[in-house]
Amino acid sequence: MSFQLEGKNAVVTGGSSGIGLATVELLLAQGARVAWCGRDQQRLEQSRAYMESRYPDAKIFTMTCNVLDKQQVQQFAAAVQQQFSGVDCLINNAGQGRVSNFDNTADEDWLKEVELKYFSVLHPIRAFLPALKQSNAASISNVNSLLALQPEPHMIATSSARAALLNLTHSLAHQFAPDRIRVNSILLGMVESAQWKRRYQERSDPEQSWAEWIGNIAKKRGIPMGRLGKPEEAAQALVFLASPLASYTTGSVIDVSGGFNKHI
Ligand code: NDP
Repeated sequence: MSFQLEGKNAVVTGGSSGIGLATVELLLAQGARVAWCGRDQQRLEQSRAYMESRYPDAKIFTMTCNVLDKQQVQQFAAAVQQQFSGVDCLINNAGQGRVSNFDNTADEDWLKEVELKYFSVLHPIRAFLPALKQSNAASISNVNSLLALQPEPHMIATSSARAALLNLTHSLAHQFAPDRIRVNSILLGMVESAQWKRRYQERSDPEQSWAEWIGNIAKKRGIPMGRLGKPEEAAQALVFLASPLASYTTGSVIDVSGGFNKHI
């Protein structure tokens, strides 16, 4: 099925790994022009080389950029505008979760988490807004977590910051509806990615393989589908929301958690 993204211009923050990387690939496979960023230059170059080898005719642009640095984000947006002469889809994906509970989350960690969850979205939106306003198929899609609705004590700061981001996404959907910019999010459960690979490196039993380790997590956490999600599965939901196929959808969410949500 076509997502009707051929010839559209898309931006993915944090496109050099995990869910962002899978999203970049799906967008390219759909014929979109794609710009993406990340902080680590080597990882970014590797992702670019991979995409160039898979999609030699695609129009691609990459730039190192920390989404928490307003100036860098503005420079990234200006460079994308110069390369693509417009932006239709902004996908705010860059970030990571914080594993800590009430007792071991210091005040500065709360501030960092709130800064990450708000400004990883606010800086890119401000920077790309003028271009999005010119598009006739504009969308902003935010990667969020099921923690927004279903907090976990072992991720207390991330959970509450995720709830704030969900609330903000709803406000922005209303704010930008008159500009014909749709704003939606996906709510993730647990998705295999570099984040989880980093946690695997710190596992208590070094004998455990990756497959055993993630299989045990799915079992222990009681994920009804019995496994973690794949980055491609998150990407499919994101790209749907970003695409003209979701043309009458704004302020909405897609749950990508393998049934892990417990609310009605
Ligand atoms: P990965 O670590 O695999 O990918 C994260 C990507 O974001 C990398 O490309 C990374 O590159 C980039 N990034 C991180 N911080 C910044 C920054 N400040 N500025 C620019 N780029 C940045 O993780 P995931 O694919 O799992 O994470 C993607 C999103 O999904 C995150 O927002 C995460 O919180 C969210 N999420 C993931 C879940 C999961 O189970 N995987 C669950 C819930 C939410 P670099 O480090 O080089 O900057």
